[in-house]
Amino acid sequence: MSNSHTIGIDLGGTDIKFGVVSPQGKILFKGVLSAQVDLGRDAILANLNRAVERSLAFARKKNITITGIGVGSPGSVNLRTGRIEGSCPNLPQMLGVNLKKRLSPRFDYPVFVDNDANVMALAESRFGAAKGFKNVLCLTLGTGIGGGMILDGELFHGSNFAGAEFGHMTINHKGRRCNCGGIGCLEMYASAPAMVKETKRLLQRNRRSVIHKLIQGDLDRLTTKVIFQAEKKKDSLASDVINQACAYLGAGIASAVNLINPQVVVIGGGVSQGGLGFIRRIEEQVKKRAFPSATKKLRVVKAKLGNDAGFIGAAILCSSAVG
Ligand SMILES: [Zn+2]
Repeated sequence: MSNSHTIGIDLGGTDIKFGVVSPQGKILFKGVLSAQVDLGRDAILANLNRAVERSLAFARKKNITITGIGVGSPGSVNLRTGRIEGSCPNLPQMLGVNLKKRLSPRFDYPVFVDNDANVMALAESRFGAAKGFKNVLCLTLGTGIGGGMILDGELFHGSNFAGAEFGHMTINHKGRRCNCGGIGCLEMYASAPAMVKETKRLLQRNRRSVIHKLIQGDLDRLTTKVIFQAEKKKDSLASDVINQACAYLGAGIASAVNLINPQVVVIGGGVSQGGLGFIRRIEEQVKKRAFPSATKKLRVVKAKLGNDAGFIGAAILCSSAVG
C-alpha cells in the first residue's frame, strides 16, 4: 500500500490549498487556488473540482496511484453523508452543501469530508507538533477560531458532528454578538478581525503609535502582521492589543484544559505567526488560570505543519475515516 497516495483539499474562507500526500505524510505536490467565495457556491465548487483535477494530473504524470480524496471544510460536517450541516459563519455559502455528493460523481475515488480544524488536529497529531500524544487540543487562529480535539488517540466529533467549536465558547455572557448568532464568543475577542478592530479603535485616540506609520495612514492596510511588527518596535498600543488577545485565549484554553486535561495544546493558523513570544504568553495565561494538576505537564506549542496542515489532514482522512 506504500504507493497508495491520497489527495487532500483544504477549503478556506479565502484560498483552497491542496496536494498529493503519501501515507507517511510526505507532500509530493501542492498548490493553491483562490476560493472565489464572492462568486458564490458554484464558483467555490468549480474551484474544488479544479484542485482535484490538478492533483490528478500530477499523479498521472508521475504514475502515482491515488486511492481517495479528502476535504477539510469550515462548518459541522456529517461524516457519513459528507454534508455541511451547521456552524459555518465564515463561509455561509457552503451551508447545506453535500461535498461528497458534489465531488464523487466527477471522480472515480471515494471522497471523505470533515471539519477543517479537525483535519488540522489530525495532521498535527499524526505528523506534526502533537506527534505521539493521545490527548490533544488544537486551535487555529485566523479569520475565525477553529478547534479540533484528539481524545484517547481518536478525533472527537461530538454526538452530532458539532464538537470542538472552540471559537464559539462563550467567554463573556453579555459580550459582543458573534457571526454565529451567539453572544460573547471567543472568536469575537481573539481572532484576526477582532484584533484588527480593537487596534483601529485604539488608534483613533493614539496618534503616537508606530502603527500609523507602518500602514501609511491607511487603516485598510492594518493586519495582525502589522500589529506584531509594531510590537517588535516596542509599540505599547500593539502590546496592549496582543496581551488582551492572549488573556482571552488563555481564559478560553484554560476552561478547555480543565474540561479535557490534554497533554498538549497546539496553536496554528495565521495569527500564530506572532511567534514564540505570543505562544509563551498564551501558555502563561493558561497556567495561571487552569488547575495546576491539569497544567503540570501541559505543553502549549506552535503548530508545525503551517499552512499545509489542512490538506495533509484532509488527505489522511482517506485512511483513517470510517466513511
Ligand atoms: Zn460564535
